Amino acid sequence: MRFKRLSTTLLSITIASYCSIKRLLDKLLNSPQIPAFRMTTGISIELKPEGGENIEIRQYSLSDKPNGKTYRISVKRESGDVSGVASGVMSNYVHDHLNVGDIIDLHPPAGDFFFIDRNAPVVLISAGVGITPMQAMLEKLADENYENKIHYLHACENSSQHSFLKRTTQICYENNWHNHTWYSSEESKQNNIHHGFIDFNKGDLPLDNGNFYICGPVGFMKFAKNSLLDLGVDHNNIHYEVFGPHAEL
Ligand SMILES: Cc1cc2nc3c(=O)[nH]c(=O)nc-3n(C[C@H](O)[C@H](O)[C@H](O)COP(=O)(O)OP(=O)(O)OC[C@H]3O[C@@H](n4cnc5c(N)ncnc54)[C@H](O)[C@@H]3O)c2cc1C
Repeated sequence: MRFKRLSTTLLSITIASYCSIKRLLDKLLNSPQIPAFRMTTGISIELKPEGGENIEIRQYSLSDKPNGKTYRISVKRESGDVSGVASGVMSNYVHDHLNVGDIIDLHPPAGDFFFIDRNAPVVLISAGVGITPMQAMLEKLADENYENKIHYLHACENSSQHSFLKRTTQICYENNWHNHTWYSSEESKQNNIHHGFIDFNKGDLPLDNGNFYICGPVGFMKFAKNSLLDLGVDHNNIHYEVFGPHAEL
């Protein structure tokens, strides 16, 4: 596929203090309207970090609904670890060096993971930073007053790592949508926040006719897909995105 390179100026950056995900809101320079994108897709950032030898290109899902003016992405810092694994090049550059007013190169929205209205209940399932495309879908479905039931399931380490928590709680509350969360290292007294691994027996899921969208680490997605198949979900109703080279689960 050929991409057209677009220069953009960062208009604003919000660093979520409660988690390691940084949100960027980008607006195109010299363009009255940004290229449209269908529901959820991703953009790619291309840059050569100062001092680095290579030009780096990384994809990021858009984490908000289309609005014709801006793109928002949410980038998790890949810190590396004590065993000597190097920290991520692009994510750390985004966190530490990009500022409002900087100009970066973007490849326009592309990708094949987006919501398709099949006039059926929808189940959005994510873990960790896989929450980003789900957030865009949830915002869009709320904006359109989607008339079928939505189930929003998310798994992460604890409430301090839970991005968009306030916003998803508000949307699900306002629309009377099901909202369940699993924290691996935190207990909660709230009856929709569970401790441990995600459990598809909870939440009265529409196994017969629902459409299931999944995004998260590959191991999580394999588990989710196989669990749903075991529960009788048709494989045609399971849609997923891998944050890396495309892979069959
Ligand atoms: C379709 C798609 C959508 C995506 N959407 C998002 C999104 O919304 N938000 C988001 O945060 N990310 C998203 N990603 C992931 C993103 O593209 C990057 O892969 C991510 O930010 C890491 O890039 P990096 O340059 O920081 O890490 P890299 O430098 O590419 O390193 C990748 C990982 O390998 C580790 N590593 C580096 N060097 C070594 C080594 N020598 N040995 C072992 N391990 C090493 C790093 O710690 C890091 O965890 C998406 C990816 C795809 C394909």
